[in-house]
Amino acid sequence: MTYVLPELRYDYGALEPHYRAESLELHHRGHHAAYVRGANQALEQLAEARARSDGAAITGLEKSLAFNVSGHVLHSIFWTVLSPHGGGRPDGELLAAIEDSFGSFDAFQTQLAQASISVQGSGWGALVYEPVGRRLLVEQVYDHQGNLVHGATPLLVVDVWEHAYYLQYKSARADYVDALWNVIDWSHVASRLAVAEGTAVELASHAAL
Ligand code: MN
Repeated sequence: MTYVLPELRYDYGALEPHYRAESLELHHRGHHAAYVRGANQALEQLAEARARSDGAAITGLEKSLAFNVSGHVLHSIFWTVLSPHGGGRPDGELLAAIEDSFGSFDAFQTQLAQASISVQGSGWGALVYEPVGRRLLVEQVYDHQGNLVHGATPLLVVDVWEHAYYLQYKSARADYVDALWNVIDWSHVASRLAVAEGTAVELASHAAL
């Protein structure tokens, strides 16, 4: 098993009333676990397809791998940016980076909420660190793997697949996104930024340009 379902750092009921235990448990044990299984299965089937030189199968499996690995990665990040001790606003270097990139925290919050709420179909809103321009961006992610900026590191992700909220919020996706702000662990987002800022992306040697 290459990919493993991570344990949550809190009980399923710890994020109530913003995220009900029943909803969180189904999301983690049911939906996230399915992406972990799907990712491992795609790797296994790719190895088999390579062994029999089955190029047609490989094309489909690469799509399946991107979908399932990305689903696993995003859910793993999602659980860690939520916390029963979350909420409020960021400060320090994270706040400064947000203000540099978006003008203000309020402008950032509005942009991420709109990106999340307006996803057509299934997807995510994401705050990412883009290491080439060394700035923060908001992405609107289709499914788990579409519409991404390559090389960028997700710092804060908002799952807006119906499975994330329908049990508790029914069709009120905006209410769910509003409620999530109460459980965002900004200190964890800040630590993710600090790590991401250490990422250097060398696109090409300057001497060769
Ligand atoms: Mn999900």
